[in-house]
Amino acid sequence: MTHDPGALFARAASLATDYRRGIATAPQRPAHTYLAALADWDAPTPETGTPSDAVLEELVARASPGLHAMTGPRFFGWVIGGSHPVGVAADWMVSAWGQTVGNHAASPAGAAAEVVAGRWMLDMLGLPPECSIGYVTGATMANLVGLAAARSALLRRVGWDVEAQGLFGAPEIRVAIGADAHVSVVSALQFLGLGHSRVLRIASDAEGRMEPYALAEALGAGSGPAMVILQAGQINSGNFDRFAALIPIARAHHAWVHVDGAFGLWAKAAPARAALAAGVEDADSWATDGHKWLQTPYDCGFAIVRDPEAHRRAMAFGASYLPPVNQGERDPTHYVPELSRRARGMTSWAMLRHLGRAGVAEMVERACVCARLIADEAAREPGIVIANDVVLNQAVLRFGDNDDLTLQTVARLQADGVAFAGASQWRGQWMMRVSVSGYATTEAEALVAAEAIRAAWRIIRGNNVAPPDV
Ligand SMILES: *Cc1c(COP(=O)(O)O)cnc(C)c1O
Repeated sequence: MTHDPGALFARAASLATDYRRGIATAPQRPAHTYLAALADWDAPTPETGTPSDAVLEELVARASPGLHAMTGPRFFGWVIGGSHPVGVAADWMVSAWGQTVGNHAASPAGAAAEVVAGRWMLDMLGLPPECSIGYVTGATMANLVGLAAARSALLRRVGWDVEAQGLFGAPEIRVAIGADAHVSVVSALQFLGLGHSRVLRIASDAEGRMEPYALAEALGAGSGPAMVILQAGQINSGNFDRFAALIPIARAHHAWVHVDGAFGLWAKAAPARAALAAGVEDADSWATDGHKWLQTPYDCGFAIVRDPEAHRRAMAFGASYLPPVNQGERDPTHYVPELSRRARGMTSWAMLRHLGRAGVAEMVERACVCARLIADEAAREPGIVIANDVVLNQAVLRFGDNDDLTLQTVARLQADGVAFAGASQWRGQWMMRVSVSGYATTEAEALVAAEAIRAAWRIIRGNNVAPPDV
């Protein structure tokens, strides 16, 4: 058996190339459902080994029917991002190098890339340069890290060391969260002992934006430590909390402000959209993703905290009273829950280097333009209504003003395979949610997708026309 990987790596590159070249014309949905995919993989425990080239071929054969076209130009499911080829190539190098970036001695390059990519990112996002960044698996973990820093800092102000003492007997923390917050933030509260049910749920408006009067009322009704969780990019409407109105209210109550900006924070990098997030830079912590709008491959997210000491205190192993960090001593693990971890800073660096400030701005703007285009073009068909103010990359569409017809249209679109969008509940009604978050979507592709949506609706509408009376 040879350990020279040349043929294996070359074959993987060739298979990946074929896949990417075919994705635009392939159905934008998996051939197999989950249960069929389980059958595709099913096999007894291997008792003996298999040659490397055969393993690769078998992997591809077993996986292919159950792959979703997440890198496709007309894939608008969830909010996924497109795993840009530059990010993929960088990620291959990270894997080939086998780097783990717990500390800077283990991988000087991996640790240093985090510092520089982080500096570029703060610059492009217009966030304070003194912020620290933890490279995590995604916005869910970034929310957890940001809220852990909040918990630490808020309790420290009232003389409680939560890292050392835990939460038993600690002063209470009030947690204000919007009625239309993303579920991942709620799960972070659950992990942190803050509870997902004891929160103050703050009323939101028709676009899912927190109502400032309601926040003022809720915070005014009590006292003591408080955190306010805001949102840049609501998962359905794509809209933004009004930071310039909300953050001063939070400040008046000495609250820590955390922002879930999984995809929406990138609006700050696009001049024509940045006003949507005006004032977001005044928060204390932010969560955003690399694997959504920055197009790194999965997985990659960023936990950004204005006060690096609070960030570090919350995450560093067993050390509530760390010495200050000197320039050049940053250890990646001090800002994330994990110790061993892949070198996500390198993949992030590669995307930021490839796109540059102008490229990020263009890509974000293009996704927003395409979302608007898909919504407007689809809504030319009678019976299709746009149910949100399409200010960003998210559009929710409703068909025949009816849940059942909407769900049927979503299913029809998915079965046709020209474009993929999912179903979502918004304001108590079922919608087709179109999320434009992949780098590969162009205006031409958007027009093809809009026609696919109209065609799906025409079929459903035709099927549901009441037969004429005879
Ligand atoms: C996707 C998303 C999350 C969760 O991010 P992951 O990267 O999936 O962990 C949180 N908030 C919002 C608004 C999102 O869109």
